[in-house]
Amino acid sequence: MNVALRHGVMNWVFYSLLATGIVAALSYGGYSYYLLKNSHDILETSNADLQYGILELSDKLKASEDLNGYLTKLILEVQQENEEFGEQVEGLSSTVRTLDKLAHTDKELLEKYSSVYFLNENYVPKNLRPINATYVYNTKEQEQVIDAVLPHLVDLLQEAASDRVSLRVLSGYRSYGEQSALKSTYKVTYGAGSANSFSADQGYSEHQLGTAVDFTTPSVGAPLSGFDKTPEYIWLTTHAHLYGFSLSYPKGNTHFVFEPWHWRFVGISLAKRLHNENKTLYDLDQRDIDTYLAGFLD
Ligand SMILES: [Zn+2]
Repeated sequence: MNVALRHGVMNWVFYSLLATGIVAALSYGGYSYYLLKNSHDILETSNADLQYGILELSDKLKASEDLNGYLTKLILEVQQENEEFGEQVEGLSSTVRTLDKLAHTDKELLEKYSSVYFLNENYVPKNLRPINATYVYNTKEQEQVIDAVLPHLVDLLQEAASDRVSLRVLSGYRSYGEQSALKSTYKVTYGAGSANSFSADQGYSEHQLGTAVDFTTPSVGAPLSGFDKTPEYIWLTTHAHLYGFSLSYPKGNTHFVFEPWHWRFVGISLAKRLHNENKTLYDLDQRDIDTYLAGFLD
C-alpha cells in the first residue's frame, strides 16, 4: 500500500471514530438531559403535591381548631347555664324554706302591742313549756314560755349563773284571765290611774304571747322596785340580746313607764340589731320587724 492510500485509510478511520464518539457523546448527553428533565418534572410535581397537601392539612387543622373553639365555647355556655340553673334552684329552695318557716311561725310573735292594740283575748300560744324550778323565783308556781323560746332562756339563765348573777323568773306566760285578775289587784293597790300606766297594760299582750319574761333577783323579789339598780339588771343590758331578748320598755320610752324587769324574746338577729342601735321593738316599723320573722327560730 502506498503512502497516500495508507494516509487516506487512517484519516477515514480517525474521522469514523471521531464521528462515532461525537454521536455517542451527543446521545449520552441527550439521554442525561432527558433523565434530568424528567427527574425535575417529577420533583416539581411532587413539590406541588406536597404544597397542596400542606395547604389542605393546614385548612383541616384550622377547621378543627375552629371546631374545638366552638365546642369549648358551647361547653362553657352549657356549664354556665347549669350553674345559673343550680343557682335558681338554690334560690327557689331557699325561698321555699323561708316560706315554710313563715308558714310555721306565728305572725303574732313579732307583733308590736300597745295600749290600743292587744292580742285577742282568746289567743293561747301553742307549745307552752315549764321553766325549770331552779330558775323560778316563786318555786310554788309553774312559769312557762313557748318551746321555741325556752332553750334561749335556759342558755341565758345558765350563763348568768356562771357569771354569779342570780337571775330568777318572776313570771312568764300569763293568760288573758290571769292578767285581768292581776290588773284588778294593781287597781286595788295603786288606784286605776296609776295601774293603767304600767305593768297591767303594756306587758299584757307580750306575756299572753308566751315570749316575755319578768326577771327578778332574790335581793329584790317582787314587786320589783329597784331592780334597775341591781347587777342582774346591768348583766341583762349587756348580755340578753345575745340570747334573743330585748328590753321592751326602757327608761325614757314614749309608750310606757320604765320596766327594767320585762324582757321579750324577739330572735337573736333582731335583738342584736336593737341592742346595737339602742332601740326597742316599738321604735321600728312593723314591716321592718316582719323581715325578721323567718329567722325568729334560728
Ligand atoms: Zn312583764
